[in-house]
Amino acid sequence: MSKDSVSERIIGFLLSNEGKDVLQSELWKELGLTSKELSKALKKLEEEGVIKREPVTYKGKRTYRITLVADTLARVQKTGLQAGRLGKLVVSKLVDEVLDIPCVSCPFINRCYEGGFYDPVNCQFINEWVLRHGQTKRTR
Ligand code: SF4
Repeated sequence: MSKDSVSERIIGFLLSNEGKDVLQSELWKELGLTSKELSKALKKLEEEGVIKREPVTYKGKRTYRITLVADTLARVQKTGLQAGRLGKLVVSKLVDEVLDIPCVSCPFINRCYEGGFYDPVNCQFINEWVLRHGQTKRTR
């Protein structure tokens, strides 16, 4: 398996499991890699600033919790690390999140402003979305 596709699979997995604990000791099994392949790819991604690893103890063994850094897309573009395909993965995740915001499909958007009848500060759709979004992030 190429080094690039290993990195892509790692990032794809982290994107689709955002908010969950992803542990190095479990990730290689999830991705069908050897522990050595995973370790090497993670080290490179960490050096490039795409992910971060925090030491944790799981089932009595030391491992790492792996998370994407907040500005992964910028990092991916900066490092040129498979910018096309990885960028698309990140962008598609961001687009999904943006399209989910109620204002995108709201019929009142042209009449909505602060202090108006439709007001983002008191919007029921936004409040419900924030609650739903917060719950989704916590339960994933
Ligand atoms: S804030 Fe509420 S009313 Fe205003 S555009 Fe967004 S969803 Fe619509």
